[in-house]
Amino acid sequence: MENKVAFITGGTTGIGLAIAKQLAKDGFAIAVNNIVLNEDFQKEIEEYGVPCFMIQGDVSDEKSAEENINAIFEHYGRIDVLVNNAGITRDNLLMRMKEEEFESVINVNLKGTYHMMRYVVPIMIKQRSGRIISIASVVGVKGNAGQINYSASKAGIIGMTKSLAQEVASRNILVNAVAPGFIRTPMTDKLTDAQKQGILSQIGLKRMGTAEDIANVVSFLAGEKSSYITGQTIVVDGGMIY
Ligand code: NAD
Repeated sequence: MENKVAFITGGTTGIGLAIAKQLAKDGFAIAVNNIVLNEDFQKEIEEYGVPCFMIQGDVSDEKSAEENINAIFEHYGRIDVLVNNAGITRDNLLMRMKEEEFESVINVNLKGTYHMMRYVVPIMIKQRSGRIISIASVVGVKGNAGQINYSASKAGIIGMTKSLAQEVASRNILVNAVAPGFIRTPMTDKLTDAQKQGILSQIGLKRMGTAEDIANVVSFLAGEKSSYITGQTIVVDGGMIY
């Protein structure tokens, strides 16, 4: 098969969907996993003239992560780009946060990213090349009241990105992160109007970002034009001023 292969975790909605479409336009064969799959996604991607492989999976479960990576590798024979996009929020103030709310966010966002890195890196080492791009958040850089669990998970992703980049640079594997600000997706649709107004007042450009704003940066990091960039986190937040 001629196409390079990009695997986007949780890649059937929101930012992941925009990334899958952009990487399909770039000519990548696409693989995605998700807790629940939707058949329309596959047709939508195949309209770009590239193959699409969907698989049910839970990034927080190590066995499922390993099986997903193995299934994608068996299907396509290679994995060139891993985009760690799957993520959840369980917002609450520290004083009210239950252990389950803390753990579930760490398990999906941080441990899930670790699981995928753990099982894709041996494949990329054998291929002698690869790109790992993880979706962090501006909240992992600056913090946000009500999100100690989420900000810890995203700050953790930024740290893992820097460390893994150093471990695998000599193997020609580039590891970077993208830290979105507030992007209009099913995740942020849950915010109240008052919360959205509060957020808008902090954004220099005075608008929420689009999923395509993030997909464009992922496309750059997955492509040839970024071949001397590793260990970096690119903040895409419209100029947040808090
Ligand atoms: P979204 O809810 O549309 O996408 C997240 C996807 O991950 C969903 O499809 C969900 O089903 C999937 N997912 C959740 N748990 C999973 C698991 N255990 N295994 C596999 N898939 C799982 O929201 P989004 O806004 O598109 O978020 C995508 C990424 O961008 C997330 O990592 C999120 O933290 C990050 N992000 C979003 C924003 C924003 O403003 N929307 C800002 C910064 C960072």
